[in-house]
Order: sequence, then C-alpha cells, then structure tokens
Amino acid sequence: MTCPICRSTRRITLDRRSRIPVLMHNLFDDRDSARDCPVGDVDLVRCLECGFAWNAAFDSDRMVYGPDYDNCQSHSPAFRAHVDDCAGAVVAARPELTAPHVVEVGAGQGTFLERIEAIGAARVGALTGFDPAWRGADGAGPGRARIYRQYFSPASIAVLETPPDVVVSRHTIEHVPDPLQFLIDIRRSIGDHKGVDLFVETPDIEWIVQHGALEDVFYEHCSLFDAESLALAMEMAGFGDVRVETRFGEQYLWAHGRSIAAPAVGRRARPVSPATIDTERSVAGWRQRLQSVSAAGRRTIVWGAGAKGMTFAQIVDPDARLIDAIVDINPGKQGRFIGASGHAVVAPAALRVLRPDTVVVMNPVYADEIRTTIAQMGLQVSLLTLHEM
Ligand SMILES: [Zn+2]
Repeated sequence: MTCPICRSTRRITLDRRSRIPVLMHNLFDDRDSARDCPVGDVDLVRCLECGFAWNAAFDSDRMVYGPDYDNCQSHSPAFRAHVDDCAGAVVAARPELTAPHVVEVGAGQGTFLERIEAIGAARVGALTGFDPAWRGADGAGPGRARIYRQYFSPASIAVLETPPDVVVSRHTIEHVPDPLQFLIDIRRSIGDHKGVDLFVETPDIEWIVQHGALEDVFYEHCSLFDAESLALAMEMAGFGDVRVETRFGEQYLWAHGRSIAAPAVGRRARPVSPATIDTERSVAGWRQRLQSVSAAGRRTIVWGAGAKGMTFAQIVDPDARLIDAIVDINPGKQGRFIGASGHAVVAPAALRVLRPDTVVVMNPVYADEIRTTIAQMGLQVSLLTLHEM
C-alpha cells in the first residue's frame, strides 16, 4: 500500500495494537455493554519520504459519526484558552473584508463558531458549519451559525448563499482515510473565488513519536500528519504560502494557507526519523508502577475521560484492576463506562470517597488546573503527569 499523500512505498511500522475500541468518545451506561463495544486493530505506519502516518488496518465502514459522538473538551479553562487563540486567528485572517464568511468543516456542536462570533462580533459575517454529529435542527445553530448535519463534500457548498472567505477545520482531518482528497474537496468547493484562507488543526505525529505517547494512538485517528506532510498535502490540494506552527503544548499542528489557482508541487522527499512508538515498554513500566500502588492497598485514579485517558486505561489496565476510576469534569460523562476495559467515569467530588493515593494526569497542559482542584478539595495525592512539560 502506498502513502496516501506522496504515493511512496517506503514506510516503517510505528505501532501495532489489536482489539481497541473503534470510537473513542462513545461512553456506555453499564459495564457489560462497555466491555462488548466494537473493536478494531491499529497498524500505524509512517511514510519515510513525506512523514505522514496512517492506520493501514483502518476500515471506514466501521465508523459512524452520529449525534452520540461527544468530544467536547470545552469544560477545561486551558482548552478554552486554546480554542479562543484559534478563533482569534480566524477572525484576524481577512481584515480587508467587511463581513467575511467563515465555513467550518467538522463543526461539532458549533462551539468554535460560537467563539468566533463572540470574539469577532461585527468583524465576521455569515458562519456556516458542517458535521454529521450535529444535534440541532439542520441549518440552525448557536448564535448566527448555521450548521448542517452532513459530511462536507464539494456538493455541500450548494447550501451557501455566498462563497466562503475563510475555511477552518479543527480535529477532523485525522479522522479521514483519504485526507488529500478531503483537502482537494475543500479547494474545489472554493472554486474561482480568490484568495480564500484555510486553517487546519490536527495532532502532530512527530510529537507523539518523540514522546512515545501511547495514549495518543486511536483507531479513529487514521491519518496523522507532521508539519511537513501537512504543508505538502495542502500545497498539493491547491493552497499556497502554507505555514504550520505547533500549539497546545506543541501537541497540535495549526496550519494556514491561501487558495491558489494551480497546485504548486508534487512529491517531495525529506529525511523522516525512523523512530517508533515503543508501546510495549511504556505499558510494562506503567503496569509495574500501578501494581506497586495497588499492592500497598492504595488507589490509582486517571484524570480525564477524553481519548487520551480512555486509551491509557484500556491499554495499561485492560481488566480494570489497577485503575479504580477515571475522573472527568464533563457531567455528560460521569456515571458512565468507557469501552473495552469498562472503567467507570466519576465526578471530581468522588475523590473524597475514593481517597486515591495516586492521580495520573494525561495531559501536562491540564496539570496546573487539576493540581488546584485537588488542593481545593484538601486531598493529599501524588500527581503523576505523562510527558511533564
Ligand atoms: Zn508520503
């Protein structure tokens, strides 16, 4: 199988996993259905010529993104600040236009469009979103936004009254098995309308590899870019002047380009690190650590039932024996169970009852706010943070 971006056949295997849940954000009402959730395999490979990585075992027929899909992270102040940074960049993109039309591909429940409206106020015009997981009425949305419950395609543009001036897509392209076609579809939907800005946000595979981040490999993230491969794909799709920076503790790529008349380049080889993700070694280390806590009659809690926390618990503790529960500040997740391993998700207040000795924090970006919350509860715990910044 050739690289979906540059068509090279030179590749390495980054990581292999079997029987992991196909949808990370689905939670279950009882432990038995959680343990019976649909699972799939990951064969994560990386192109040695452009740096792009993909799950060669991915089966898109197994993915159904519907209104049950809840990937809301906006309960955290650190995440909200990051979202506002991105919204600010979108608002500032077209100062020469009086009311630029912003289109979001993968708009979820409209949280980001809402922030664009709040920050941009009169500096932005129409706000349109597309997402198959949108729960509201088709064409309705929070504030001025109009969100349509559909996957984005060149045909989607038919619902727009005016062409887009800025297109943004955050945390969507990593779910798409043919990401080059996804970018080409966005470029086609722009047509001859001149100089349209595109912003793309997605996890950085280079950060995942460099940190051996076992908690960042998910079945549904079938396409993972590094900065160079994302720039290459955007250029191949017909965007010029592409700049890619890292954000959110360097974990995410934030790319910006502007539509041009003709795609600039084709294949472009570059040195790609042959490093892989040594999941087996990290898992063995964590199991040993958590077993010693458990053997001393003490409890371990994981903080955060997002994709990272679930993946960590599922892979380090598949039988739910070492991790007592997962704490999450999102009320919609509390009282439910995560797929495969069946760990329970609880509210932070449950820590007063559970009295954990150890709290494992998935993301160093959240460590400060979690430390503050725990201190306010008057609890003494040892906080272990993955990839401490
Ligand atoms: Zn490639």
